Amino acid sequence: MSSRKIISIAFDCDETLWSNGIYGGVHDGKPNVPIVNLFRALERLPHTKMYVWSHGGQEWAEQVAIECNLQNYEIIEKPFPIPEDKSNMPDIAVDDIDDLGKLLTLFVE
Ligand SMILES: [Mg+2]
Repeated sequence: MSSRKIISIAFDCDETLWSNGIYGGVHDGKPNVPIVNLFRALERLPHTKMYVWSHGGQEWAEQVAIECNLQNYEIIEKPFPIPEDKSNMPDIAVDDIDDLGKLLTLFVE
């Protein structure tokens, strides 16, 4: 077995996995399909561990994960405010807020 490090990757919900509608509710928005597909592509790589998180809280992240058919992935708490010290953050963040990941943030516009 390879000793290669597991890369943790956390995907944000609002305006990342989820395109929010004008009212912001789950019945108003829709999955952001290219980003959901990116999640699935990265999940297929060996040595990745995928997470969903949201500043909207655990319950909101669970709802979005279900709507995006990502309900089998772990939901983790997203710290707010964003810590200066990134040592406990996921290696990679995919997010519409910059500077979240320990190694890098794939910024979604
Ligand atoms: Mg967001």
